[in-house]
Amino acid sequence: MYAPEKLGQKEILVANEWIEEMNEEIDISVTSLTTIDAGGLLIVPGFIDSHVHLIGGGGEGGYATRTPEASLTDFTRYGITTAVGVIGTDGITRTMPALLAKARGLTEEGMTCFIHTGSYQFPVKTLTDTIEKDLLFIPEIVGVGEIAIADHRSSQPTLEELTKVTAEARVAGMLSGKAGIVNIHLGDAPDGLELLWKIVHETPIPISQFHPTHINRNRTLFEDAMKFAKQGGVVDFTTSTVPTFLEEGEVACSKGLAEMLANNVPISQITFTSDGQASLPHFSKKGELLGLQIGKMHSLYEAVKEAVVAEGVPLDVAIQVITSNPARHLKLAHKGHITPGAHADLVFLDEKSLEIKGVMAKGVVHMWNGEMEQKGTFEK
Ligand code: ZN
Repeated sequence: MYAPEKLGQKEILVANEWIEEMNEEIDISVTSLTTIDAGGLLIVPGFIDSHVHLIGGGGEGGYATRTPEASLTDFTRYGITTAVGVIGTDGITRTMPALLAKARGLTEEGMTCFIHTGSYQFPVKTLTDTIEKDLLFIPEIVGVGEIAIADHRSSQPTLEELTKVTAEARVAGMLSGKAGIVNIHLGDAPDGLELLWKIVHETPIPISQFHPTHINRNRTLFEDAMKFAKQGGVVDFTTSTVPTFLEEGEVACSKGLAEMLANNVPISQITFTSDGQASLPHFSKKGELLGLQIGKMHSLYEAVKEAVVAEGVPLDVAIQVITSNPARHLKLAHKGHITPGAHADLVFLDEKSLEIKGVMAKGVVHMWNGEMEQKGTFEK
């Protein structure tokens, strides 16, 4: 068992959706007991994908390029038992009520979904009339974003505007007992993290208030993000990619993780997300749209596995970027750890190939040996 820390061989007692007990051996006799033999398998916490376009995203090439909604098995097949939904580029035809309803639907189907309030755009389009009320009164809303900066698709918020949003998110987070972080979409523009550095240097807002994402999209941004993480920020790699992006200088997640660790970035400061169901538009230097693909949730664990297999990052270290780290940074209660009192969200891996063999979400087996035992309402 990797909880994510390596704990050796354990038995786990699950009651309803909770982990009740873990021990070398658990002696229990109740008639309703079901036993799962996980011999030859490693057990890790269910994966958290904290940046997914649950209701689709994009649309940079017109209406026909709006990407579709995600279904339950798009997550559970690949070990993702918790997701944080975001809107993205199009905050006009994609709305907060639709995002919240989708998050609740997926949660009813057996996984757990949270959401951020807003989209790329400034001013932030909230569900209620303010960021504060969204965080205080809507249980699923844990932060703000993804707000776009350093991108030709951004609303180009000024330093003062972004500072105000971050301050609101921070106070709302404190009052609601939630993370209140601001998820920042970084584009390809040369100013990169500049706005965030200014807020960190010129105001008392701590660096931990942000969760900048797509930080591996080019070498310059990646290196600046490495500094950001060393100063106490949490930086997020995007695992969905296409060969063209990598050819043009995107840093592969597996190699980027290994490089950050070699440069003494604490593992606690790194997360991976899939950017699933996002459009992955390919623009020319002049900003013309050349083509468009779609982000995939399966890339989340694949990138972690590649870091272990190809880059030699130990499993108990690598797995943190999709389990305990997002749970801690986004304050997702009962998530990211295998421990009594946590949700029984478990992924079973083949101990040799590290392939996903089984997935349990809140005590229910969703996948076993490649067979989906639970499906979404319209997947049956
Ligand atoms: Zn984005």
